[in-house]
Amino acid sequence: MQFDEIIKNTNYSDSNKPNLLDYQSKYDDFDWYKDGFSKLDWLPDGGLNNAYECVDRHVKNGFGDKTALIWLGKNGEEERYTYSEFKDHSDKFGQVMLDLGMKKSDKVFIFMDRLPELYFAAMGILKAGGVIAPLFSAFGPDPVKDRMLDAGAAYLVTSPDLRKKISPILKDIPTLKNIIIVNKDNRFENPLLDDDLDYSELMKNVNSDTFKLVSTSQYDFSIMHYTSGSTGKPKGVLHRHQAVVQQMLTGNWALELSHGDIYFCTADPGWVTGTSYGMIAPWTNGVTQIIYEGGFSASSWYDIIQKYNVDIWYTAPTAIRLLMRAGEDVVSKYDLTSLKFIGSVGEPLNPEAVVWGERNYKLPIHDNWWQTETGAIMCANYTSTNIKPGSMGRPFPGITMGILNDEFDEIKDETSGILAVRPGWPSQMFAYWKQDDMHNSRFKKGWYITGDQASRDKDGYYWFQGRADDVINTAGHLVGPFEVESALIEHPAVAEAGVIGKPDPIAMEIVKAFVTLNTNYEQTEELRRELIRFAREKLSAGVAPREIDFLETMPKTRSGKIMRRLLKARELGEPEGDISTLEDD
Ligand code: ATP
Ligand code: MG
Repeated sequence: MQFDEIIKNTNYSDSNKPNLLDYQSKYDDFDWYKDGFSKLDWLPDGGLNNAYECVDRHVKNGFGDKTALIWLGKNGEEERYTYSEFKDHSDKFGQVMLDLGMKKSDKVFIFMDRLPELYFAAMGILKAGGVIAPLFSAFGPDPVKDRMLDAGAAYLVTSPDLRKKISPILKDIPTLKNIIIVNKDNRFENPLLDDDLDYSELMKNVNSDTFKLVSTSQYDFSIMHYTSGSTGKPKGVLHRHQAVVQQMLTGNWALELSHGDIYFCTADPGWVTGTSYGMIAPWTNGVTQIIYEGGFSASSWYDIIQKYNVDIWYTAPTAIRLLMRAGEDVVSKYDLTSLKFIGSVGEPLNPEAVVWGERNYKLPIHDNWWQTETGAIMCANYTSTNIKPGSMGRPFPGITMGILNDEFDEIKDETSGILAVRPGWPSQMFAYWKQDDMHNSRFKKGWYITGDQASRDKDGYYWFQGRADDVINTAGHLVGPFEVESALIEHPAVAEAGVIGKPDPIAMEIVKAFVTLNTNYEQTEELRRELIRFAREKLSAGVAPREIDFLETMPKTRSGKIMRRLLKARELGEPEGDISTLEDD
């Protein structure tokens, strides 16, 4: 069935979106090629280019005067760019890269704060056929070196301060040809070292009219992302231009993005959410995107939503838990009624957070599930379907998910097992970079093995249990850390909880929890006992934690995920492994 017919045959919700209520049967014959790729413009010669679909297409179709980007600098600056201006800047940067000799599939690392130039550069590189590899600007020299060496970085785009921070390692990257320095508003004196090139000078010397977009095919490489490092050493994941179709459609159907919306994604491009949904999905859908250079702050975020009338807000559970911690009083000071959709990804969204969101934002928070490897949303709670708090929703049309046993065969509903996806979705990774064995090990009996553990209920909703490695075997029960963590954070004293299995001679493992407390609560023996009691009441005695430790801060990745493997290694006095993505305390 064609996409348009599907929309025609379904009820419209208030927001003029297809009602996906019983979409599972309707979308049985959903076909990415027929129903998805036809929505893209494609290049005249049949090629496909991410950045063309994000930027140039809107200019060609008469939306050039619309605002693509509103940048809010950390010093209170504001800059606005229309789609035409965005095209102009990115064309110029594409020309800069071609003049420097960039070849198709060359990897260009982007290591900088969220400045407009980051996005101009990214789109320019993609239009000129290069592969972008964005990194968190908070990384120190070693994580940058590891990734640049691993990927064989050809170019680096960065800012003067960050360039200085990593100076010692740059000589160790033999493949690196040029370093381009963005000195935004001349924030730094003497910005260039060695043979560095100056972004503004380079841009001054090119003309956007001379740039000819390099034709890429849907199979050409586009983005290289390193995974978050929650379960081990981050893996390099290589994506292709064809991912754009899934990013666009999921942006539209799962996040409700459409032309003219004001959109605020709080993820940094160092994490895949900041590219798939901080660049490609919003701009292919023609929205005005707010880019905020600053970090987390409840009042700044609410202020942005109020001031810019944000329609759609995509964030992560860690941020939502921090907002909950900041309290209801802070929310009540702002008018957030412009919001029509809130989405969350990255970790399981505790049911408590869904309920809190509904109470405070007058909107439920829609959880969706995907991975660096999947490139785009795979499973989601939609506006037109009921949200079951704690569930990550149902597979996106065209995606087949399943729950498998240890032999990789499907098992019945309401049983916990391996979460798997049928391969062949458009934004599927091309490869784990230079890790063929690991790549192959993820495909079994016609399934892609996600590494997560989940169950599916009778209505087809998926319920995340935990990472496969994190599931706890205690006295014969399999316990997912998520349900224990969710129970604990329902206690008013608990801000965050991380749960592990601690080896035990009798029970095999016991459930051990680490918690951080909300302000105004003290780490006392009495509270510890109360929390154990509280968890026992919520959960069965076998599932509730036997031990609880207090922490000042929860170890998390820079993308905001609790690092349970680190909690466990520290508990057992074992080596900490790769901690390149560990957030500073
Ligand atoms: P690494 O693969 O390096 O260990 P990572 O898996 O955290 O790190 P990402 O690709 O950023 O790296 O995250 C994907 C994972 O995040 C998923 O496999 C899942 O475990 C978790 N996740 C993402 N969204 C959700 C969600 N809505 N509910 C539960 N878990 C989620
Ligand atoms: Mg992973």
